[in-house]
Amino acid sequence: MGRYTEAKCKLCRRAEMKLFLKGVRCTTEKCSFAKRPVPPGMQHRRKRGKPSYYALQLREKQKAKNAYNMLERQFRRFYDVASRRKGASGRVLIQMLERRLDNVMYRSLFALSRNQSRQLVRHGFVFVDGQRVDIPSYLVKDGQEIEIRAHDSLKKDLKSNVDINSKERSCPTWMQADNENLKIKIVRLPEKEDLVVSIDEQLIVELYSK
Ligand code: SF4
Repeated sequence: MGRYTEAKCKLCRRAEMKLFLKGVRCTTEKCSFAKRPVPPGMQHRRKRGKPSYYALQLREKQKAKNAYNMLERQFRRFYDVASRRKGASGRVLIQMLERRLDNVMYRSLFALSRNQSRQLVRHGFVFVDGQRVDIPSYLVKDGQEIEIRAHDSLKKDLKSNVDINSKERSCPTWMQADNENLKIKIVRLPEKEDLVVSIDEQLIVELYSK
């Protein structure tokens, strides 16, 4: 499967906000966006006027797609599924993005970055209700229990990740993490207020419903 291989920090500068794509580095003074909070490109190209409404819609979609480390086709598929489900498409889309298994690993603080959380899932360390699940886009459900089964040295690393991450962010309230046993319980479905990166889902819905 394809993946984005260009400079990640450019994505934050283009979104004009931190998307936290590089783990610990994002919260230090080494963060490129903290050092240069301007869009990438040559100076004269930055002197554009007010962006059009379409540009705002496009930027919001790119921001959400990049924040969840997804490719265009995957993101579009998520939207198509969300739009067919019951309820407001934007809210369902946000819930689906948050419920991704790789996102759960990242938000639970066991992984330093989304790339690392995706790797944990792909390498088969993650079990949902006792069944191995190695699909990062798997959507967790209310009441499910997730467990990381790994060898001792990896367990030690994951516990130390929690210590590092908890200095900068906390586990969201829609899940409960048992750091000692590397387990997570989903206690409710996530809502917009639970997001790390604020997203205006309405702009995305408008863009895709044209
Ligand atoms: Fe780079 Fe900062 Fe964005 Fe992290 S938050 S990816 S360090 S620009």
